[in-house]
Amino acid sequence: MSMLRALAIASEMAPFVKTGGLADVVGALPHALAAENIELRTLIPGYPDVRAALGAGETVLEFDDLFGGPAWIHAARHNGIAIYTLIAPHLYAREGGLYTGADGADYPDNAFRFAALAWAGAQIGLGALDGFTPDVVHAHDWQAALAPAYMHYAERPRPATIVSIHNIAFQGQFPKELLEPLRLPPRAFDIDGVEYYGAIGFLKAGLQLADRITTVSPSYAREIETPEFGMGLEGLLRARADRVSGILNGVDEETWDPATDAHLETRYDHWSLPSRARNKAALQKRLRLRVDPDAFLIGVVSRLSWQKGLDLLLDVLPQFMRGRAQLALLGAGDKTLEEGFVAAEAAHVGRVGVHIGYSEELAHMIQAGADAFLVPSRFEPCGLTQLYALRYGAVPIVSRVGGLKDTIVDANEMALQADVATGLQFSPTTADALAIALREAEGLFEDAETWRKIQVNGMKTDVSWRNPARRYAQLFRDAVAAAQSV
Ligand code: ADP
Repeated sequence: MSMLRALAIASEMAPFVKTGGLADVVGALPHALAAENIELRTLIPGYPDVRAALGAGETVLEFDDLFGGPAWIHAARHNGIAIYTLIAPHLYAREGGLYTGADGADYPDNAFRFAALAWAGAQIGLGALDGFTPDVVHAHDWQAALAPAYMHYAERPRPATIVSIHNIAFQGQFPKELLEPLRLPPRAFDIDGVEYYGAIGFLKAGLQLADRITTVSPSYAREIETPEFGMGLEGLLRARADRVSGILNGVDEETWDPATDAHLETRYDHWSLPSRARNKAALQKRLRLRVDPDAFLIGVVSRLSWQKGLDLLLDVLPQFMRGRAQLALLGAGDKTLEEGFVAAEAAHVGRVGVHIGYSEELAHMIQAGADAFLVPSRFEPCGLTQLYALRYGAVPIVSRVGGLKDTIVDANEMALQADVATGLQFSPTTADALAIALREAEGLFEDAETWRKIQVNGMKTDVSWRNPARRYAQLFRDAVAAAQSV
């Protein structure tokens, strides 16, 4: 297999900057693809945290004026991986978050902040760097999605292009008056170009002009071709359906391994499941729950937003709390949901334990201590927490959508008989269906032998990057071969 060179463009990359699953994928792919003989270098914005983490790099490219100020590309290495950072102080040296200021509102110049990233990536794609011209450019989400457009309108030999959708809810839409300031030619403002409902759509442009489109699960790839999930882009995706594929995310097996996890009271694997009980007790203590080995303890670690469906859990909580059930919830987000769960804790003292905020340690403790792990999302492109739950023996209870549908084997009669079940799925994503699933899960939990089998099946499931990396590698090679044959 010949060596392939690829450039990823993304606005987040673990471990440097992260607001969601996107960062984990972008951080993991260079390592995973190295095993497939693909050299993947990654271009990310030079936010202050990134610059601090990577130190002074070598300047490999300079721009006199990149949308209002000078900019540079620095090359650095981290754990054997090549990283390019776009240093543009007028765009990235900010006090607030990656996308929003301290007041929580989007930065007013986000169009330029991320067009700059895509532009710089496009220049690398077109051969601006000495010694590294990629065969394929892989743009992640709307922030990078103009890169295929810039290369398309440059009308020069270009690499194969791929756009990946991590969450189609975020599309990057900006007024049409920005066309020229964004360095897009007048002809780009067209239904076959960047035009999107009378405005400029960054993600739309990428989906229209890239050679291939991926998203993070096969089911989500199909769902986004429908009005219910496509959020306005379903027509385009249907028209280009032969270019769309879904590849699941893997998990970071070093960070998420119950056999070595330093956050746990007791480490364990599927041979030593009984010692998991000590983690359950530790979690119960930590969240002020009654320490009861026989309680049916449900864990949740999530952003609290409409997408995640946790309002449904609030709806069914009063009836669910009648049995031996307990809830351990870690999350932050919508104020109404936060207040709802704090009130639920007060109403069910010792039965509901809530921590509002972000805590890496508690996230691990919940995976290792809860009997079941609940993800009732209304939509879920891939989802990572149910994959961690599989590894940790917390039986996932998930809505049957997107990546949740693709990663959990529902404990229906046949799956139980064949001993392949790894969790429970429910559908539709409603309070009634959730209530039924919780009751069913509690019934299975009372059958200790069956429950243990489901746990062990989950823990043995391969949720590593090996399979996904193979699929990305194949996709990269196919895209390059197709681009060369035109
Ligand atoms: P999304 O990216 O939509 O939020 P994912 O399931 O893909 O959902 O990824 C969520 C990631 O964020 C997981 O690694 C999860 O453990 C972590 N996470 C979410 N909320 C919290 C929290 N309050 N504290 C710690 N980790 C959290």
